[in-house]
Amino acid sequence: MDKAIFLDNAATTRTDPEVVGVMSEWLGDNFGSPATLYTFGSQAKQAIEQARQHLADLIGADQKDIYFTSGATESNNWAIKGVAEALEEKGKHIITNQAEHHSILMPCRHLEKRGWDVTYLPVDGDGLVNPEDVAGAIREDTVLVTMVHANHEIGTIQPIEEIGAITREKGVYLHVNAAQSVGHIPVDVAALSCDLLSLSGHKFYGPKGVGALYIKRGVRIVPLLLGGGQEKKRRAGTHNVPGIVGLGKAAELARKNLGPEMERLTALRDYMIGLIEKNMDDIRLNGHRTRRLPNNINVSIEGIEGESIMLSLSYPTAANARPVFVSTGSACVSGTLEPSHILLALGLPAELAHGSVRMTMSRHDTREDADYALNILFEVAERLRAMSPVYKRGSKKCASGSSGEGCDCEAAS
Ligand SMILES: *Cc1c(COP(=O)(O)O)cnc(C)c1O
Repeated sequence: MDKAIFLDNAATTRTDPEVVGVMSEWLGDNFGSPATLYTFGSQAKQAIEQARQHLADLIGADQKDIYFTSGATESNNWAIKGVAEALEEKGKHIITNQAEHHSILMPCRHLEKRGWDVTYLPVDGDGLVNPEDVAGAIREDTVLVTMVHANHEIGTIQPIEEIGAITREKGVYLHVNAAQSVGHIPVDVAALSCDLLSLSGHKFYGPKGVGALYIKRGVRIVPLLLGGGQEKKRRAGTHNVPGIVGLGKAAELARKNLGPEMERLTALRDYMIGLIEKNMDDIRLNGHRTRRLPNNINVSIEGIEGESIMLSLSYPTAANARPVFVSTGSACVSGTLEPSHILLALGLPAELAHGSVRMTMSRHDTREDADYALNILFEVAERLRAMSPVYKRGSKKCASGSSGEGCDCEAAS
């Protein structure tokens, strides 16, 4: 893996060596459970509380409002199902949007089958939700608005502050899935006016299988996991001590590095987008050009399947010794080649939705890595297009991105 260029950091990140270092202290002799009363476990308890403080500091929260979970999937399920059940008597209406992560959409569908009503708001051609649509959708029986902070596929950052001002005024809970934004851009629960916020360790150089849900004091929510009295009786189960300590360390490092890292990655991102637009015809930048995560690039390349590009880039050749790992919105978990619901929600025609490539950089990637990866991308795309029976250069399906003239996608925004 050493020589590989890993550009799939929206899927997961390499655990920081410092994080691995502190975690290992809790994997060996120091195996005491924080729940026990004798001194052996009390060290673990202290370590957990220190991690909670680091996490709270990162998102501007009170440490008492942080609850450790197994990751953003659990946090999202808990927020949605937990609030829905707690406020069942008040109403059974939830608002979200069409381009959400499956860990939001699936719990919503689950509730729909059991009598709840869910409004899936549309997004514009850049993936943005219109706050006025949120205001318009809130009803007497609305109990929760759940909105992603930054989209995992296209990187678009939602106007959560504006949405939060609306939900606060109307007295409706706002849950924010911040799995992609925490540790990458400033996240402050007060500035966002949110009541609940999900985050995940492995998305910002922490360990996998650990995350948290921020629950503002006084918010009504029932537990998802029942059993022991951990996390103030709100999330049962013996604590994942190494994971939580690692998450705390990742939060501490993220807070320290956030500003310079954002600046460096934004410059790298825009440099790469510039090169792509200069060297390739008939492409579309998916997601908002500036309101996007510093490390996210998502382009549709007309005439080819994203999956073909993804696989071609991942095999080293004699000329290209370094494999490049990217992701695509057209490969489906189920193995069928359905374009992603997110790209379809943007209004992309099927042929562009099929040709999407997502490159998400990390704190380790340099301009040199980017040049190398892009040169292979240009080569591979050229080769695949030459073999494509459908591609005609300059057909202007979407030649210059969402703002391009004569772009078919423009009508969608
Ligand atoms: C990764 C991710 C999740 C799931 O997080 P896990 O901790 O892997 O369960 C949920 N939402 C978004 C936006 C993500 O990027």
